[in-house]
Amino acid sequence: MGTPVAATVTFEDGTSRCVDDVAQALALGDVARVELLYEYGPDLVPRGPLDPIGMWRYRDLLPLDPGPIAYPLPVGGTPLIAPPGLRRASGCDGLWVKDETRGPTGSNKDRATALVLEQALRQGHETVSCASTGNVAVSLAVGAAAAGKRAVIFVPAEVDDTKLAFMLFAGATVVKVRQGYAAAFRLSREAARAFGWCDRNTGVNPLTVEAKKTVALEIWEQLGRTVPDAVVAPVGDGPTLCGLAKGFRELVACGVAERMPRLIGVQAEGCQPIKRAWEAHASRVEPVQPATIADGIAVGDPISGALALRDVRQSGGGFIAVSDAELLKAMRELAAWAGVLAEPAGAAAYAGLLRALECGLVGRQERVVILVTGTLLKTPRFARSDGRPLEIDADLGELERALAGLGTS
Ligand SMILES: *Cc1c(COP(=O)(O)O)cnc(C)c1O
Repeated sequence: MGTPVAATVTFEDGTSRCVDDVAQALALGDVARVELLYEYGPDLVPRGPLDPIGMWRYRDLLPLDPGPIAYPLPVGGTPLIAPPGLRRASGCDGLWVKDETRGPTGSNKDRATALVLEQALRQGHETVSCASTGNVAVSLAVGAAAAGKRAVIFVPAEVDDTKLAFMLFAGATVVKVRQGYAAAFRLSREAARAFGWCDRNTGVNPLTVEAKKTVALEIWEQLGRTVPDAVVAPVGDGPTLCGLAKGFRELVACGVAERMPRLIGVQAEGCQPIKRAWEAHASRVEPVQPATIADGIAVGDPISGALALRDVRQSGGGFIAVSDAELLKAMRELAAWAGVLAEPAGAAAYAGLLRALECGLVGRQERVVILVTGTLLKTPRFARSDGRPLEIDADLGELERALAGLGTS
């Protein structure tokens, strides 16, 4: 099991310093993002074939005391696939899809939920809480139910109806906050402090990035212990991208990888505060009012914006913004050519890849991994298509005529 030996703390203006006392770093609260550091070496990285224990395979790089894992749901170990149809459709020969829709609740949030609940189980917290635009909330509601904990969840009033239904279905207490996600986030932080709840809030709880980094470790192992040229990921609050960066950075620090991949962050055109800061060469992110169908990345005032800028800069990558129409088109292509059902934010990396290929940020011969972060099954209202079913009597002749009418059979 891993033991953090120091921490990097990064402030909102992008400045950072290393702190030897981990407890002191964690006590800084909201003013800084805290990243845990370990005594790196090749021994921390697992060897041997991938096994079904999922992300706990990387427990030596996770801040966990010894002892068996108590969290009951399987998390991590998601497939990395190389769909020939999608490679042809995108014109990217070295394309890989890391399918993060395969968790217990269909989003990459299940990794962070698992680690936070594992700690809550060990520390005896009875209540866990978070603020969320949707997927964190569903993930925490279901994870808490499985772990026998109470979940109190703060969501913006305009939360997706289906996601809301899932939270309630799993028995969570859900609080709609009329002033939107940023206000819900502030209130949930205050409430967790006031009532002594375990706070799963993304970015501020360093466990969320720790858990999300395991996706990088898996990608590296699944590519035969090699680093791809680039990884493309959607960016809302930032921890998904920062987790990827931390995972690859730690592989280098452990001496098992030689370099980082270029990281390409994708935002929605209707909510691109980090991309704008990137273009302006700023290290601080100015808040915006989100307007996009991609609720998973509709974050106007990102918690880890400065960190995401730093990580992308250090990796030699870049940021891209895509329109809602491009997201819908990317969702259709992922479904039709790769059999991967993605929600709008979940398809952002693929939409971003198409742009990146166009503008030369990614070359067509490069090895590129796109992260599909959330499932369409939780947002069925976006399963839009021009297709129509054939409707016939149960008769083979009629079926034949109907099929002939399509021009195919
Ligand atoms: C949360 C989420 C993201 C973005 O993650 P951040 O860590 O907030 O940047 C992307 N896609 C989906 C589907 C999400 O739920």
